[in-house]
Amino acid sequence: MREFDYRRADDVPGAVALLDADPDARYLGGGTNLVDLMKTGVERPGRLVDVRRLPLDRIEPADDGGLRIGATVTNSDLAAHPEVRRRYPALTEAVLAGASGQLRNMATVGGNLLQRTRCGYFADVTKPCNKRLPGSGCPAVEGEHRHHAVLGASEHCVAVHPSDMGVALAAFDAVVSYRTADGPGELPLADFYLPVGDTPHRETALPRGALITGVTLPPVPSAARSRYRKVRERASYAFAIGSVAAALDVGDGVVREARIALGAVASRPWRAHAAERVLDGAPATADRFAAAADAELAAARPLPGNAYKVTLMRNLVVAVLSELAEEAAR
Ligand SMILES: Cc1cc2nc3c(=O)[nH]c(=O)nc-3n(C[C@H](O)[C@H](O)[C@H](O)COP(=O)(O)OP(=O)(O)OC[C@H]3O[C@@H](n4cnc5c(N)ncnc54)[C@H](O)[C@@H]3O)c2cc1C
Ligand code: SF4
Repeated sequence: MREFDYRRADDVPGAVALLDADPDARYLGGGTNLVDLMKTGVERPGRLVDVRRLPLDRIEPADDGGLRIGATVTNSDLAAHPEVRRRYPALTEAVLAGASGQLRNMATVGGNLLQRTRCGYFADVTKPCNKRLPGSGCPAVEGEHRHHAVLGASEHCVAVHPSDMGVALAAFDAVVSYRTADGPGELPLADFYLPVGDTPHRETALPRGALITGVTLPPVPSAARSRYRKVRERASYAFAIGSVAAALDVGDGVVREARIALGAVASRPWRAHAAERVLDGAPATADRFAAAADAELAAARPLPGNAYKVTLMRNLVVAVLSELAEEAAR
């Protein structure tokens, strides 16, 4: 492991200035991903700027009636917050489905959004990987890709984004706030992650040196009836092989609003707009839910080893929407 300098930032401008002055520096949140990657040599920063003492650890009402979540709020505090539980239950469920209690006590909202893929080739510095070493190739396409992407991938990279939290945030149209030396900025989550294309090493639209300061959830009345369902290879402490965050507003048996996002199927949390369009004003029936899932998954391009994901995601979407519709009918 390379020797590195450690600084604890006391205020936001100070943290940003430290990163601005040193292209070799990285922000340190809970360190649950970055430090692991440093141990294996995937990340080799010369300086860590610890952001955990910054005054970004609050969850507060936003001016528009939504909720503003500070970037250093821990995953545990986010999941437990009464307003998150009441108004955006799928977000609480998503966060609690991730990692372990100890990790959630350390991990932060900003760090969760920027955690790196769990592709085994990416984590192994002896292997080629376009994401880690641009132009070196993608061995996953011909090799081990059981857990990899079926939507939005390219021949240059088929990795998935591992965040559970991000899937719920995508369903609720969250907006990421950040600060650079030039001032504050915002990115809707829909634009936060870049398409893979031939530049898989460029993962987000954040400007260089940007400090994530928070995430804002808009007021979404339908989110009060929402759910996150995650499929994984063991019951806990495992990344998703597929997941769904969904919210459903049903009146007189007809869908008034559906919000659906899929996890572990693409390089970013995947908002299922095609499925939502099929459901708009449609009867809230299992047949329609299946048609909606099919509309979204028509764009799937599975590899030989992960075609199972298409069936899995179809079943997952139908199951989650059916449960929400049943709840609405009670
Ligand atoms: C064994 C294990 C199992 C896990 N299982 C799951 C799971 O099932 N689901 C899931 O979603 N996650 C899972 N995780 C991932 C875990 O949730 C992430 O490691 C965590 O959310 C990252 O947060 P952190 O604050 O520790 O980030 P760090 O490791 O500190 O940082 C991660 C990245 O974000 C950057 N960063 C951190 N904060 C900021 C900021 N404010 N502004 C700009 N950049 C910033 C860092 O520079 C770094 O590049 C697991 C992790 C482990 C180790
Ligand atoms: S899928 Fe992406 S992260 Fe994995 S080896 Fe290929 S380029 Fe690297």
